[in-house]
Amino acid sequence: MAEVSVVVCDMCGQLDRSTARYGITQGGSTVQFDLCEQHAAPLERVLDSKRPDDGSWRRFEGMFTTFEEIEEQKKRRADET
Ligand SMILES: [Zn+2]
Repeated sequence: MAEVSVVVCDMCGQLDRSTARYGITQGGSTVQFDLCEQHAAPLERVLDSKRPDDGSWRRFEGMFTTFEEIEEQKKRRADET
């Protein structure tokens, strides 16, 4: 039997939202969680303010495509046809 596992947002659990994994380390212990774009927005704002302003982060970011982004692109392509 085939099994499919889906990662959903820890806040809303919506199946149709792509998620990203985050980890916060505090006092030596790390908590990992998955958030959709909406619920990750406050966190992303903090991350944005911490990223270097010289553009190096953007170059770094462009080198990687997350699994979620690939799935999203596939979906978009399927919608267009
Ligand atoms: Zn969510």
